[in-house]
Amino acid sequence: MSASTGSGAGPCGMPHDKDCTEVLERVFFFIDNELPTADFSEIQHHLDECRPCLQKYDLERTVKALVARSCSEHAPEGLRDKVLLRIRQVQVEITDIRGD
Ligand SMILES: [Zn+2]
Repeated sequence: MSASTGSGAGPCGMPHDKDCTEVLERVFFFIDNELPTADFSEIQHHLDECRPCLQKYDLERTVKALVARSCSEHAPEGLRDKVLLRIRQVQVEITDIRGD
C-alpha cells in the first residue's frame, strides 16, 4: 500500500465509466466512513470531478440521513402506521377530487 503520487502528469482524457461503477458500488461504504484512507480519497477525488456520481452520492446520503433521523425520533412501528395512515388520507383526497 504505497501512497503513490503517480507518474506526475495524470492524463485526464481517460474514459472513467468503469470508475463510476466502482465508485457507486463503494459510495455506501464511503458514506459510512468504512473505507481505507487510500480508497476514501480516491472516491472523494472522483466525486469532485464527476457530477453524476456526486449527485448519486448526495441522494444516498440524504436518504440515509432521513432514515437515521426518523428511526431515532420515532419508534419504527408507530412511524409505519403514521405513514400508512397518511397514504390512505392522500388516496381519499385524490378519490374525492376525481369523484367531483
Ligand atoms: Zn463518476
